[in-house]
Amino acid sequence: MTEQSPNEQISILDIPFENTDMASFEGRLQQRINDHANTFVVTANPEIVMYAREHRLYKQLLTSADFVVADGIGIVLGAKLLKQPLAERITGYDLFTQLLSWGSDNLKSAYFVGAKTEVINQLKQVVHEKYPGLTIAGTHNGYFGDDRNIVADIERTHPDMVFVATGYPKQEEFIAKNRHAADALWMGLGGSFDVLTGTVKRAPQSWQDMHLEWLYRALKEPSRFSRLAILPKYLLAVTKQRFTKS
Ligand code: UDP
Repeated sequence: MTEQSPNEQISILDIPFENTDMASFEGRLQQRINDHANTFVVTANPEIVMYAREHRLYKQLLTSADFVVADGIGIVLGAKLLKQPLAERITGYDLFTQLLSWGSDNLKSAYFVGAKTEVINQLKQVVHEKYPGLTIAGTHNGYFGDDRNIVADIERTHPDMVFVATGYPKQEEFIAKNRHAADALWMGLGGSFDVLTGTVKRAPQSWQDMHLEWLYRALKEPSRFSRLAILPKYLLAVTKQRFTKS
């Protein structure tokens, strides 16, 4: 029987996105965790892609990841504009909670780095209550200069999964630099710890269904509006890619 190629990717502004659906991607990650394969997953949105265009080292670091997945409707839209639609959006937050749940059922362990001290302390409680089978190998807030103690702790506790939620580019830089410390799944997660603890509310399902999560977040935190300015620039760059490559 021929197996479907597991490596199909779609390049958006030179970033190779995994063209996969949530269920098969989760399955692949679970397999890699069971095999203790060292795995770096980037959950990328248009802001990350545009940042990579201007920062060569960051771009290199993204292309060195094992998987880049489409977190953000802008990426799904970009792929459509390129006439190479992606199978599905893979939201970092959904992936995170599914892996916590699977990790709890399968008695795995996880290390959490990111967010403010009060948020990470609350996260410990939430994970303990909601995912009781999961061992919390350790936690650290995301406001650190020197990361040596954190890395030594990860090395000592050798968790199955390391979740880093310090926002980009810090989270990907941290992972690329330190992933040798444990043969684990390493994933950058933006503001996911804030959402899991209820510090920041996720958009209601109806807004998510309409792909307006980004607007909801900007309305709740108006300081985020300036970050949306990158979207038209991104769409223009993708449109240019389409006409250059065709
Ligand atoms: N953060 C951090 N360290 C820093 C800067 C930010 O841990 O040096 C945390 C911040 O507290 C928040 C997350 O990183 O929990 C970034 O969230 P944001 O919503 O900006 O990320 P996004 O998902 O939009 O990339």
